[in-house]
Amino acid sequence: MFRSRFRQQAAISGRMKKNLILFVFLWLLSSHVMGVEVTGVRHWVSPDYTRMVFDVSESVEHKVFSLEKPDRLVVDLLASRLHTELPRTLAKDPYVARIRSSTRNGSDLRVVFDLNVPVRPKSFVLKPNSRYGHRLVVDLYARASEQNQVREVRKSLADPLLRSRDVVIAIDAGHGGEDPGAKGPSGVYEKDVTLAIAQKLARLVDREPGMKAVLIRNGDYYIGLRQRMRKAHQQRADLFVSIHADAFKNRGARGSSVFTLSQRGASSEAARWLAHSENAADLIGGVSLDDKDDLLASVLLDLSQAATMEASNEVASELLAELRQVGKMHKRHVQQAGFMVLKSPDIPSVLVETAFISNPSEERKLNDSAHQQKLAQALLSGIRDYFLRSPPPGTLLAERKSYEHIIERGDTLSDIAKQYRVSLNDLRKANRLKSDRIRVGQVLRIPEG
Ligand SMILES: [Zn+2]
Repeated sequence: MFRSRFRQQAAISGRMKKNLILFVFLWLLSSHVMGVEVTGVRHWVSPDYTRMVFDVSESVEHKVFSLEKPDRLVVDLLASRLHTELPRTLAKDPYVARIRSSTRNGSDLRVVFDLNVPVRPKSFVLKPNSRYGHRLVVDLYARASEQNQVREVRKSLADPLLRSRDVVIAIDAGHGGEDPGAKGPSGVYEKDVTLAIAQKLARLVDREPGMKAVLIRNGDYYIGLRQRMRKAHQQRADLFVSIHADAFKNRGARGSSVFTLSQRGASSEAARWLAHSENAADLIGGVSLDDKDDLLASVLLDLSQAATMEASNEVASELLAELRQVGKMHKRHVQQAGFMVLKSPDIPSVLVETAFISNPSEERKLNDSAHQQKLAQALLSGIRDYFLRSPPPGTLLAERKSYEHIIERGDTLSDIAKQYRVSLNDLRKANRLKSDRIRVGQVLRIPEG
């Protein structure tokens, strides 16, 4: 009894095994016939490389190789079919002139990039995350000797702004919409004041050569705090300035203060970033954390955050110095706090409490267009001073051989020399100055440091 039952079971399981093998075989066959589907193609042109991302239905085998005369890069995706349209050209791309595709060996997909210059390709596949599925990433880097050619191609491209980009200032008007922020004794809302100052600052920034403003909010509506950071990130902002007005129960409290992120806020945020897989696809300082292991990712994040915090504090000091000339200071030093909007790991971020809206006299000033303009002008001066001194690489400001400085009230020649890190003597020589006397509005040429 026992034995025959055993035999019967063995026979059944043998049959099942055969069925299973057949099933797996059919499945393999069908999946081979169906092949991998390329469902999307995305690309980014960064100053250093062009990244092409192919969204694929499953992990894909691929080959990448270069051909010469003319220069081409060939990407073969094995057993794959194109289920989307390829862009024929990439706007503003210095490497790629044209893209085309064809079928090879009846089943493979071949994508050919016709190149302006030879490139050094790098390719890798990425596993799905919460935002994307399987991906094949192909990065096109310039070869060292080709760097100059790339620069030439960049220059010859129609868009003159491409030669070097603007410094991007993200201006965040605090609160908005259903969140009015603080309310002054005579009913002035913080959200309205912050928007007015932000818009005035944006106009001033846009007037500066080599600088561009992005208004995070440009109307009376609310944007979530993380969404504000994300917006700045998408715009590749070099600085995030959040504008607020303070409030306190004691109506006597007054003056401005400038905040940067506290160390504590920074480390807790870094932990959160790493803990949440949705951030893995984000770029930290232009580096994807997606394909890095946890330790490396955390080191990269720390490095980026440390540099960002240092820059934030430098900007904050400049702003503080300028605001001091417009009105009273609430705090004489840069303050640290764990404000959410300051937590971008790779964008220097500052928060300005322009004045106390709870103070009747400051409320009046905050609501006054001329005073708003003065505050905006002070913020611009601080931002400009910082970026002239430390222009991000690849920007117009970084590439300018010499800077100009317009003399403002309180400027001295030696201060200006110190600010631009040039010697007093070079500064005198560059401007053929016979004495150290300067006047407001005078334009000084700043020689190369
Ligand atoms: Zn506020």
